[in-house]
Amino acid sequence: MNSAAAQPLQFSFELFPPRTPEGAAKLPAIVAQLATLQPKYFSVTYGAGGSDQDGTYDTVVRVVEDTGIDAAPHLTCVGSSRAKISALLDRYEAAGVKRIVALRGDLPATALGASAPGDFHYASELVQFIRETHGEHFHLEVAAYPETHPQAANPDADFVNFRRKVEAGANAAITQYFFVAEAYFDFVERCTRAGIAIPVIPGIMPITNHGQLTRFSAACGADIPRWIRLRLEQLQNDKPSLQAFGLDVITRLCESLLKAGAPGLHFYTLNQAETTLRLWQNLGLPAPHY
Ligand code: FAD
Repeated sequence: MNSAAAQPLQFSFELFPPRTPEGAAKLPAIVAQLATLQPKYFSVTYGAGGSDQDGTYDTVVRVVEDTGIDAAPHLTCVGSSRAKISALLDRYEAAGVKRIVALRGDLPATALGASAPGDFHYASELVQFIRETHGEHFHLEVAAYPETHPQAANPDADFVNFRRKVEAGANAAITQYFFVAEAYFDFVERCTRAGIAIPVIPGIMPITNHGQLTRFSAACGADIPRWIRLRLEQLQNDKPSLQAFGLDVITRLCESLLKAGAPGLHFYTLNQAETTLRLWQNLGLPAPHY
C-alpha cells in the first residue's frame, strides 16, 4: 500500500519532557523498558513557542546516552525567529542529533495564520529553512492528518499543504492519531495518486483514560467513533475494563494497519511503558533484544 512498504517496519516511541521532579525520576526506567523493544528512534515533544526547549534538548540527550538509540526532538516554529531556530538546530547538530520532527505548533487561535507573530507561519517553511541552513544533515519527519487538520479550509487544501512539506524536503510523515483505519488508507491512497512516496507512519494513541482522550481528541480533531465513545463513557469509572477494551481496540487497529502494508507505527507512549509493551506483545512483534 505505502510505496515504502518493502522497507523493514519502523517503530518509534514518542515521549514528552517530564514536567515534574517525580516524572523526571521515573522516565529513565520507562525509557529503559521501551528500549528493550529496539525502536528505530524515540521522539521528544516540544512546546510551541519554545516553552520547554531545554526539557526537550535534555531529554533527547539523556535518552541517547542511556540507550544508544537515536532520539528526535520535535521542533515547532510558530512564534519563533530564524535566529532562534537556527541556533537550536546548531545545538542539536553539535549534540549528534540526526533526526527532527518538524512542526508548526499551536499558538492561541487568534495568533495563528499568515499574520502569526514570528518568522514562520507553517511547517513547510520550517522544513525549507532546515534544508537551506543544514542541508541533508537531518532526517525530517512532518505531521500528516488523515482526518484533516482542524484549521484546514478543507481536506484538499490540507493535502496541498501536506504536499508542500514533502516538496520542501520532508523524508517521512507521522500521522495524527485516528481510530478508523480507513482514514489512513484513504490518505495513503491520496499520496499514491499525488506521486508522494515518503513513508507515512500511523501515529498510535493508546486508549487508557476517557477524560484525557476526549480532551485531546476535541483539540486535535481526531474522531472518536460513536461505538468507542459510548463504551468509554460506560466504562469510565472501571479503569481495568476500560484499559482492556482500549487495548483490544488499538491492537485490532494496529493489526489492520500493518496487514494492509503500513510501513511501521509511531506510538504516543504518554511516558508510560506498560501499554506500549502490551500492545507490542499482542501484535507479536519481533522479540525484544535484551
Ligand atoms: P502545518 O503543516 O503548518 O499545518 C497547519 C495548518 O495550516 C493546517 O491546517 C494546514 O492545512 C495549514 N497550512 C499549511 N500551510 C499553509 C499555507 N501555506 N497556507 C495556508 N494554510 C496552510 N505540537 C507541539 O506543540 N509540540 C509537539 O511536539 C508536537 N508534536 C506533534 C507530533 C505529531 C506526529 C503530530 C501529528 C502533531 C504534533 N503537534 C505538536 C501538534 C501540531 O503542532 C499541531 O497539529 C499544529 O496545529 C499543526 O502543526 P503542523 O506541523 O501539522 O502544521
